[in-house]
Amino acid sequence: MKKVYFKTFGCRTNQYDTGIMVSRLRRYEATTEENEADIVVVNSCTVTNGADSSVRNYISSLRRRRPDVRIVLAGCGSHSRGEDLLSRKRVDGVMGHSEKERIDEILSLEDGFYEIGDLKHIDDTVVESFSGRSRAFIKIQEGCDFRCSYCIIPHVRGDARSQREERILLQISKLASNGFGEFILTGTNVGSYGRDRGESLATLLKKISSIRGVRRIRIGSLEPIQIDDELMEILDEEWMARHLHIALQHTSDAMLEAMNRRNRYEEDRRLFQRIADRGYAIGTDFIVGHPGEGEGEWREAIERVKELPLTHIHAFTYSRRDGTVSAGMGDIVRGDVARARHREIREIVAEKNRLFRLSHDRDLRVLFENGKDGVYRGYDQYYNRVSIESPHEDLSNTWMDLERVEVGIDENFAIYKA
Ligand code: SF4
Repeated sequence: MKKVYFKTFGCRTNQYDTGIMVSRLRRYEATTEENEADIVVVNSCTVTNGADSSVRNYISSLRRRRPDVRIVLAGCGSHSRGEDLLSRKRVDGVMGHSEKERIDEILSLEDGFYEIGDLKHIDDTVVESFSGRSRAFIKIQEGCDFRCSYCIIPHVRGDARSQREERILLQISKLASNGFGEFILTGTNVGSYGRDRGESLATLLKKISSIRGVRRIRIGSLEPIQIDDELMEILDEEWMARHLHIALQHTSDAMLEAMNRRNRYEEDRRLFQRIADRGYAIGTDFIVGHPGEGEGEWREAIERVKELPLTHIHAFTYSRRDGTVSAGMGDIVRGDVARARHREIREIVAEKNRLFRLSHDRDLRVLFENGKDGVYRGYDQYYNRVSIESPHEDLSNTWMDLERVEVGIDENFAIYKA
């Protein structure tokens, strides 16, 4: 059997997509060694110009190192750069997102194929396990109807569409019976789940929670306007992780407008407070250095970040993406300024996180994953990392209730006593 190596770039959704392709191989065998491969499938990311060049550099270096290997471009980059790379013979074939489940057939085509498919498809594959992990990621939807100025994603992943409910429930049932207890629902825009099918995320969550073996559910990321009363109602359920990730992207209204975001600060602040009052840790995404972010906008934003009950942040330095509205905007922020702002916001939220952990250092329910040298790591219900020393007992994939932990700079610690 010919061997296929998958090189995955970008986000968790892409990793998940690679899992689908691997699970669909019949006439080929997946390998984890690039130098053993007859074919390399590059599951690419195109979210920024930088992501495009990482993919291009990998392909060029692979061509140099392994002139005999067949290179197939898959993932988001196949939609934005596929035609170009194929016409310049940098890759031997291109396959779009909707074609993943046909991978066996596609890899058997003659060189030069361009199987881009459509952007309406939703995968049907049930992935039953994720080796070496105790948390399972479940993709419940694909695509996005929002049109944020800086983002290329809707153009390469299409509009929002939801996975069929029975598919998701079947997938989770199988994983739960294989020993998975924590489920993380992911997608391009998770909070839009169900809108195209007249269903709702809250109803799906309730159904998942009633599957035997499901102990904790996390939602990947939500937009503020997607948190409706039905979702607020289930926040007290025992199976909900006590952490929500709500993507704000900025806290200055002028910047939110420039980014064509649908959220505005005052409502965001009220929402965060209501959720924090229910005992939740809250994380967010934040783009630093988007065009137009002058010193005034930044100072306003950072003062607001200080007043928000935030515990986690994914701060990104804005990176230009050709083909987006933001790429054509003036008032570009200098790289060193953006980097300094990035550091500032990270430090502020890291301190907020530490203070939160100091006041939440008891009664933590942790799922420990794999360990090394007698130290195991996992996450508590607030999505804070906990390391535990256990020189003699293997704690991989173990749930544990910790009465008390020691709070460190950026994680919590405990010592296991049998
Ligand atoms: S919500 Fe905005 S940033 Fe997120 S995928 Fe959709 S368009 Fe992109």
